[in-house]
Amino acid sequence: MTAETGRWIRNFVDGVFVEPDEDRGFDKVDPATGLVFARVHEADSSLVDRAVAGARRALDEGWARTPVRERAALLRRAADRIEERFEEFVAAEIADTGKPVTQARELDVARAVANFRSFADVVAAAGQESFLTDLAGGRQALNYAVRKPLGVVAVIVPWNLPLLLLTWKVAPALACGNAIVVKPSEETPATATLLAEVLAEVGLPAGAYNVVHGFGGDSAGEYLTSHPGIDGVTFTGSSATGSHVMKTVAPRVRPVSFELGGKNAAIVFDDVDLDEALTGLTKSVFTNTGQVCLCTERVYVQRSVFADIADGLAERARHLRLDRPTDERTTTGPLISQQHRNKVLGYFELAEQAGAKVLTGGGIPQLGPELAGGSWIEPTLWTGLTNADRAVREEIFGPVAALIPFDTEAEAIALANDTDYGLAASVWTNDLRRGHRVAQAMNVGMAWVNTWFLRDLRSPFGGVGLSGIGREGGASSLHFYTEPTNVCVQL
Ligand code: NAD
Repeated sequence: MTAETGRWIRNFVDGVFVEPDEDRGFDKVDPATGLVFARVHEADSSLVDRAVAGARRALDEGWARTPVRERAALLRRAADRIEERFEEFVAAEIADTGKPVTQARELDVARAVANFRSFADVVAAAGQESFLTDLAGGRQALNYAVRKPLGVVAVIVPWNLPLLLLTWKVAPALACGNAIVVKPSEETPATATLLAEVLAEVGLPAGAYNVVHGFGGDSAGEYLTSHPGIDGVTFTGSSATGSHVMKTVAPRVRPVSFELGGKNAAIVFDDVDLDEALTGLTKSVFTNTGQVCLCTERVYVQRSVFADIADGLAERARHLRLDRPTDERTTTGPLISQQHRNKVLGYFELAEQAGAKVLTGGGIPQLGPELAGGSWIEPTLWTGLTNADRAVREEIFGPVAALIPFDTEAEAIALANDTDYGLAASVWTNDLRRGHRVAQAMNVGMAWVNTWFLRDLRSPFGGVGLSGIGREGGASSLHFYTEPTNVCVQL
């Protein structure tokens, strides 16, 4: 069984790869070169129906009742098999996104393996709450909750860390005994399809994992979220799409988990170790060409070190290496598409109209004929903007940040919290008390002190405000992917 027939990327429905319909294909473009590398079979509504029906059948035929230790063992086999096929996943991730090979290896595929192992551990160790209730007359009642799978879960994921974010949902959902229908981003269909092979190889029953390809509105995404046969939706993507999905799901009152956009702040105090902060900020602004929901787009710097941080960060940005993704020395890939580059360039224009001083970047790099058709963009830094400017308020999702000075701790907290989003923040200081204090004052789901994107997969992940609803990670994932039934026994 292979994911691709020639240049087709196929749907995986009820345990089999579906022969593509020649009339329902769309091109998958390599973001690094602009060349088409595959055709993707866009699922129609009847294929989505078949996927949902297959998922329901898998549940009914016993997957939902499989003992936890067997599900945990299956997750561990999946992790082992991804490791055995590691370079295939790396190649698929690069083909989808154009990201540098070192990142694909060290972050994306490594985290896919870790996601499966981690949720195998989490589910195997999970217990359940019980309460002894005192009643009149000395009697008691015992309350305990049994957790059952949510059922058929729609998993909708974006293109920026496609395999990492997919397995972040698939691993706990399967650990809890759910059946899944995945709709990967139309920009990144390859790794979800390859994962179908792996899960079948390690013995997941037919129907428990399905992949339907296509777009959002009036395509596979909407067919799935509006389907009466789904029991819940876990969605990672933009806040605007999340809001749309919520409306679609609302009439049937299904649970949703939303991991949405961000406009994340870093706060740099003047007592900081400059070199350490610059290394951290370079990562937090430019990793994955700024296309991580956690990336920093607002950097608030205490005035006395503002020039040092601005000059140092610009210097590091100029040293990033934009080159072929397969070159081990490449640090920075292209944006995902020309369309997304146009959006980012639009913000470059807006920032300059608002009076931004461009410290570095601001345009399209010249990288030679092989990469000329790719959606490359220069790492960019601005000063001279304020929180009132659109480029500082709206998520850009590119390798770009605005640097803004502050004087006091209270001012820094107010500036960082002055946003409709609330995903992540990072605080850079050598003052331990201040680090805790400021991190706790951030209106976000995740705050880091002297680091960024350091994850323990048992800890909660998610956002507030426009950044989402609910948390996933560790026990939070187990809660979302199960429904408790409380049993009360009078003793
Ligand atoms: P997007 O919202 O455009 O698309 C996300 C997914 O939703 C895609 O698979 C898309 O096809 C699908 N979709 C679009 N319209 C739909 C509809 N009407 N019904 C059902 N599905 C639909 O987001 P994107 O551009 O792919 O990803 C970038 C965004 O994702 C950024 O805003 C980023 O911050 C966010 N993101 C958030 C997190 C997080 O954990 N909070 C992580 C990564 C990315």
